[in-house]
Amino acid sequence: MNVLDLLIEGEKVQAEDGRTFTRNNPLTGGVATEAAAATVTDAKRAADAAARAFPEWSNTGPSERRRLLLAAADNLEARADEIARAMADELGATAAWAGFNVMLGAGMLREAASMTTMIKGEVIPSNRPGSLAMAIRQPAGVVLAMAPWNAPVILGVRSIAMPLACGNTVVMKSSELSPRTHALIVEAIQDAGLPKGVLNVLSNAPDNANEIVEALISHSAVRRVNFTGSTRVGRIIAKLAAENLKPALLELGGKAPMVVLDDADLDAAVAAAAFGAYMNQGQICMSTERLVVMDTIADAFVDKLTAKVRSLTVGDPREGNTSLGCVVDKGAVSRIMGLVQDAEDKGAKIMAGGYADGVLMEATLIDHVTPSMRIYTEESFGPTASVVRVASVDEAVRVANDTEYGLSASIFGRDTVRAMNVAKRIESGICHINGPTVHDEAQMPFGGVKDSGYGRFGGMAAIEEFTTLRWITIQDGQPHYPI
Ligand code: NAD
Repeated sequence: MNVLDLLIEGEKVQAEDGRTFTRNNPLTGGVATEAAAATVTDAKRAADAAARAFPEWSNTGPSERRRLLLAAADNLEARADEIARAMADELGATAAWAGFNVMLGAGMLREAASMTTMIKGEVIPSNRPGSLAMAIRQPAGVVLAMAPWNAPVILGVRSIAMPLACGNTVVMKSSELSPRTHALIVEAIQDAGLPKGVLNVLSNAPDNANEIVEALISHSAVRRVNFTGSTRVGRIIAKLAAENLKPALLELGGKAPMVVLDDADLDAAVAAAAFGAYMNQGQICMSTERLVVMDTIADAFVDKLTAKVRSLTVGDPREGNTSLGCVVDKGAVSRIMGLVQDAEDKGAKIMAGGYADGVLMEATLIDHVTPSMRIYTEESFGPTASVVRVASVDEAVRVANDTEYGLSASIFGRDTVRAMNVAKRIESGICHINGPTVHDEAQMPFGGVKDSGYGRFGGMAAIEEFTTLRWITIQDGQPHYPI
């Protein structure tokens, strides 16, 4: 098996000290990938390379940046099979999840391409006669991009695409759990013809993530940081960024509620709940973790959902068309099963699933979940959904907001004005009425509130994140000075 190299200044290189690390297939335990374990010196070299590439790239016209990003999207699609194999090997991901990742990843590159001519400024009336005052957006500099493994193509591309479209150069730190998948997307983008050093990628062993990240955030050329991952690590990144006065975009954990009102179309709500809770084994930041259901329809809703959940299959993703593939590792399974057990011990009812065979865990539906159970508050990031029954709309809103997180949410109800009023009261960055909590489109302002982080990926919002706004004037040189 080839050892995966780092990409620094357009060259594939080993780690400076030759060290490597492995990612094992979660299902078989065999080595899925052996990758270079970057050192702090490698990290600094990558940031230096990105800094050297910045002057030329930031002055490259929008049409050329668009052309390259469009070619990158085609390259990504052309490698769909190879990416699906890497995702199955490194993560036990299903073919459907890999296909969706590539489709949305390519869409994100095309959307970023279309944004290259949307980076605009304004002319602002000046009090000074003869002065032309402008606010213009310029590329920020080197962007540090950190993406997780769970939707590796979507989140990997997302961390890179808009920074590049805005004229920045990038150092990407790939996930220790999906280094090959991340390397494949970087290769697809690089092969579009990006100049050397515009995009660099570092893989690292889990034991030195902190020193690599610290070296990169404190590097003088790095001007923006984006991080998608857990709230725990997000806080560390936020502190490092603050100490170094670097703006950070943080996309962190979630505990998305789906509110099912008493006038909901129950079949539609059940279909959305099953997709939202169990797609990719619930390992999506927007996964439906809590079903907040009004009492009067709760029995009917739970009956229908139980039947649906019991029909979902789980198995080796390489062997066929299963609904659910692997949970990322055995540690995650025992953590998730611990949450299920705790709920059962405290009186919850397991309506479906509740079993795991190694990393293959059944879709699990838990009814009568209450605040005393850990799963009420803790992100499961696995194939579980918890039903919390409520007596009124006000109680539904209170329960939906009874979480430290605030990424995605959804509401089902036929009276859309009533549902909209509920949506306005939900504390989340994203909320879909009559749609699942899991929904992403490249042009939308994606991001959370509360402990789900801050900043927005997508469309115009990302232009603000990855450019710097400058005030520039042209004056006649003849003002009256007081001294
Ligand atoms: P994680 O936070 O555990 O790991 C992310 C990265 O942080 C790792 O690659 C690691 O290199 C780095 N890291 C670990 N310790 C560090 C330290 N001390 N200093 C600096 N860096 C360190 O997250 P994960 O397990 O890869 O991803 C799962 C989490 O991501 C879930 O909580 C999920 O909700 C969240 N997520 C959020 C979004 C979103 O858009 N909001 C999307 C996907 C996933």
